[in-house]
Amino acid sequence: MPVKTIIVGNWKMNKTATEAVQFIHKLAPLVASSAPQVLLAVPYTAIFQADQAAKKTHIRIGAQNVHDLEEGAFTGEISSEMLKDAGAEFVIIGHSERRHIFNESDEFIHKKIVRALMADLMTILCVGETEVEHKEAKTKEVLERQLTSALKDLPKNTSNLVVAYEPVWAIGTGKSATSDLANDMHLFCRNCLIKYFGKKQANQIPILYGGSVKPSNIAEFMKQEHINGVLVGGASLDPKNFAKIVNY
Ligand code: PEP
Repeated sequence: MPVKTIIVGNWKMNKTATEAVQFIHKLAPLVASSAPQVLLAVPYTAIFQADQAAKKTHIRIGAQNVHDLEEGAFTGEISSEMLKDAGAEFVIIGHSERRHIFNESDEFIHKKIVRALMADLMTILCVGETEVEHKEAKTKEVLERQLTSALKDLPKNTSNLVVAYEPVWAIGTGKSATSDLANDMHLFCRNCLIKYFGKKQANQIPILYGGSVKPSNIAEFMKQEHINGVLVGGASLDPKNFAKIVNY
């Protein structure tokens, strides 16, 4: 069975709760009859109100990060259980901004994934190479390392997992990967997932592309065989723009 197409908006550190609610009221009618699953990764402070606003729509609300433990003395951190309680249904883990600005290690990302899956949150694992790694032709090596370390010891029947291939050099730069390159890397990621989970389970894991997706290039990506959806940053901040992507 083909995996469902997923379009995720990642708002990063943008929008108050009030702005999130206004956005959802504008977006909902524009995507009411859209085929893809529409997810919005909003700031922590907007999760509760965004979820309330999205209740009668098919937009689902999630978070952009999470801590790896359930509770304790971790000032400023938020647990998977807290996210669920606030209304989040999914979480992004290992976004390149977390890896590179906040120095999150493969090991830390792995622990977060285990905890988020245990809490029954759909978990979107981001992987991708930097510009230097891309130029040095190390992309596959990086993807394999990030996937292997993130998935280590996960049960072979893990569901609720999504992978997002996001080349770091394409995020927020306006310089997207070509759809052919993205497709090849998705196939590579798919084969890594098959090595770990086996074919049947791995083929149910959606693999999304992220990096400067916009209304003018979405159709190109979605034509590709191995691209099951997209993760969108900048172009998800305006409801009309984002709706154009969802309705590509
Ligand atoms: C992202 O934040 O994951 C992203 C892909 O951003 P942008 O679409 O702005 O490149």
